[in-house]
Amino acid sequence: MSPQIIGDHVRLRELVPSLLSVSAQVGFSADGLVVYLDAMDYSNCTNIRDDFKFPAFFWREGYSLNGVPSSLLPLMRANAAIIWLSKSLLESTMARVIWVYAHEFRHFMQWRGAVSLMPLQNFLRERHAVEGFSGIGTQLEKPDELDSELFAKRVVNAVIGEEAFAQYLGECRSDPKGDVYFRRFSELETLLPNHVKV
Ligand SMILES: [Zn+2]
Repeated sequence: MSPQIIGDHVRLRELVPSLLSVSAQVGFSADGLVVYLDAMDYSNCTNIRDDFKFPAFFWREGYSLNGVPSSLLPLMRANAAIIWLSKSLLESTMARVIWVYAHEFRHFMQWRGAVSLMPLQNFLRERHAVEGFSGIGTQLEKPDELDSELFAKRVVNAVIGEEAFAQYLGECRSDPKGDVYFRRFSELETLLPNHVKV
């Protein structure tokens, strides 16, 4: 089953086929998942919770409704699982939209219990012991986030093609922070034992 894709962003119709191809690609039932494409920018709203200042997030039943924009409250009260996509994300390139959406979609799969994070948890624990890891790093040092990033990379390659992916990677790495991030990403990827199947 496909997720329900809704929202008031002007790119909704254009993006629906690509967003649907993410769940189709992995053959994972997204029954009960709502994807919301928001046209509102909350970055300067002090009374809105920080989640809405990120490019996207995965919201699930039980999370606090404090600081949720009032226009989205009925949606969040009525659904157990929502991937919210921000205006700023939706105004970026297709590769970035698919990457970020696939990352959040993987969190949905993790929440549904479809992913064992144990192999990545063990892998990172061993790596950190070898490296004398300080505990300070990007999200790549956390098993659920690393899993989501590895998944996003695979999906972007499959959905938009290796060439477009290479171009996207080039853009990300032109920024010094992005370069450090993807250097670590590829280092971890290379060190991953083959039995860690993502
Ligand atoms: Zn994440």
